[in-house]
Amino acid sequence: MAVRPELLENIRAVEPYTPGEQPQEKVIKLNTNENPYPPAPGVQRVLETMDSADFRLYPDPASSVLVHALADNYKVGEDQVFVGVGSDDVLSLCFLTFFNSGKPVLFPDITYSFYKVWAGLYRIPYECPKLDENFRIRKEDYYRENGGIIFPNPNAPTAIYEDLDFVEDILAHNRDSIVIVDEAYVDFAGKSAIELVGKYDNLIVTQTFSKARSMAGMRIGYAISNPDLIRCLNDVKYSFNSYTMSRAALACGAAAVEDKEYFAESVGRIIKTRERAEKTLAELGFELTESRANFLFARHLEYDAGKLFEELKDAGIYVRHWNDERIRDYLRITVGTEEEMDRLFEFLRAKIRSGNVIA
Ligand SMILES: *Cc1c(COP(=O)(O)O)cnc(C)c1O
Repeated sequence: MAVRPELLENIRAVEPYTPGEQPQEKVIKLNTNENPYPPAPGVQRVLETMDSADFRLYPDPASSVLVHALADNYKVGEDQVFVGVGSDDVLSLCFLTFFNSGKPVLFPDITYSFYKVWAGLYRIPYECPKLDENFRIRKEDYYRENGGIIFPNPNAPTAIYEDLDFVEDILAHNRDSIVIVDEAYVDFAGKSAIELVGKYDNLIVTQTFSKARSMAGMRIGYAISNPDLIRCLNDVKYSFNSYTMSRAALACGAAAVEDKEYFAESVGRIIKTRERAEKTLAELGFELTESRANFLFARHLEYDAGKLFEELKDAGIYVRHWNDERIRDYLRITVGTEEEMDRLFEFLRAKIRSGNVIA
């Protein structure tokens, strides 16, 4: 039975985010920037010692063990850390909490497509300055009145990282609005803006356990800022859902953060594979941006990206493609294991040798 139109009139209608596919069959999955290696071994040990009887009880609403582990890791106060159900949860709460001026929020035209969705959901006006012709953010575009600023660094899906001087210029020109730096991929890149948190009271840095820490399935993200802004976030969280983090997520998350050695090794392996993949793809006729993330943004000079995307999928190799005007020639390819990348290269080599130009 269809709902009557008069009933629909006052229902919040939104254009939702489209997540990358999560196929249930076994495929080579290079489409959602997960880490191909398992989380720190301590995470498995925690799971084995958990007692399901404890699940009777609500978790700690303050998420103390995890907040403590993160504060310790980043050498900040516990009152400077906010945790949520993936950084999507953290970012969504940030939009709700900080972007209330009625003035347009600024983020790049090519970026994480969820920003637009949250702005739509919360009825926040926004403007999207265009990346330049090399897909770089033009910082001068952010030197004007605005209701807040958000950008990922490295940016997605371009994989391009801007150094801290660049980030600082944007902060310094926007002392009266909140600037969120979404550092989902920063561990593969270089310096984090967390070191600027003490200097700029308008800065919020968000990070996630989903990429470098290999825990996308556990859903953990966090924000680091000054105690006042963290308090504002907590106030909104407690007005929404007090118990966002499960007992399993809190215990596993803390264990993951404590193993710094494993983390460095896992990140190092991916960077090595990324460098080899960049070389191989260039040899195969792809043009790439300089990736500082765990994915590559590549276009082939002869092959149509949309068709290549479909053919790869038919061969059981999932990558990401957007049919957006400025990036429809590109594929975003997650850096997998060495073996997974070899399978991708094999497929591409055979295609190129066959001279099967499909542009
Ligand atoms: C993956 C990603 C996120 C969200 O990650 P969560 O899994 O929700 O922690 C946020 N921003 C960017 C740019 C991402 O790529």
